[in-house]
Amino acid sequence: MTAAVIDGKAFAANLRGEVGKLAAAFEQQAGRKAGLAVVLVGEDPASQVYVRSKGKSTLEAGMASFEHKLPADTAEADLLAVVERLNADPAVDGILVQLPLPGHIDEQKVIATINPDKDVDGFHVTNAGRLAVGQPGFVPCTPLGCLMLLKDRLGDLSGLDAVVIGRSNIVGKPMAQLLIAESCTVTVAHSRTRNLPDVVKRADIVVAAVGRPEMVKGEWIKPGATVIDVGINRVAGAEGKTRLVGDVDYAGAAAVAGAITPVPGGVGPMTIAVLLRNALVAAYRNAGIPLADGTI
Ligand code: NAD
Repeated sequence: MTAAVIDGKAFAANLRGEVGKLAAAFEQQAGRKAGLAVVLVGEDPASQVYVRSKGKSTLEAGMASFEHKLPADTAEADLLAVVERLNADPAVDGILVQLPLPGHIDEQKVIATINPDKDVDGFHVTNAGRLAVGQPGFVPCTPLGCLMLLKDRLGDLSGLDAVVIGRSNIVGKPMAQLLIAESCTVTVAHSRTRNLPDVVKRADIVVAAVGRPEMVKGEWIKPGATVIDVGINRVAGAEGKTRLVGDVDYAGAAAVAGAITPVPGGVGPMTIAVLLRNALVAAYRNAGIPLADGTI
């Protein structure tokens, strides 16, 4: 079998288009644009690229973008004060503090200071709790993007065996919660899991979020399974260049799976698209304008 390629880039482009239409409708109804604030501390090159790209995408979706760039030696109290100001600002619907933060700042304390109703990254414990008990909140962008791709591909996920490899707070754990809510039978594998190949072999859905290049082999995949590769790993390529690979051996898995996300072009583009979606949902909720469940 040769797997169907799940085109995350196309799905994300479509989602961004839908967000743009709803952002225009929001502006009409609310008399202001939906607003997303991004806070960057320091000069980490990768974080700078992400923040620039988030700002550009926010504007392209017809939303207001507020960027706060603070020096690397910013005191924790000063960062918390910026977050508090954004919490109180009615033009700001969503707040994202770009991680990682410099070592002298307690990330959990910063996340805990964000108003949960503006926490469009879904990292606040209140939103983690809401997800766990099935209340409306904000779900971390990457796993929500993975779920959208899975539902688009498979429709009803009820009763399917799902294995999530990785148990981070950002990807693995919320992914598992989302799949439980879809009535999958969920196994969470991690660095201490025994016989990982056997665990993966029984899965109809495999979500790999490990951070180890091409660790998941084709022989581990159940024929016809759907494979979502969250990993983004830079490895040495030809002629001294580097290239991106996922956590799954793509060629091996694509020969067995029913469908698979490529890297790049699979899960990666979904993250920013879902961030915009979350910011727009925040705007509707904060403005008290109804938005029917499942609209976006
Ligand atoms: P993390 O380092 O926080 O967590 C990795 C998890 O993998 C841990 O729970 C660990 O137990 C597990 N693990 C480590 N070695 C293992 C092994 N040998 N067998 C089984 N499990 C093992 O990473 P993360 O933040 O969850 O990110 C995971 C990957 O996803 C990374 O490659 C990251 O770059 C990528 N990522 C991509 C996006 C995106 O937008 N596409 C977003 C977030 C993360």
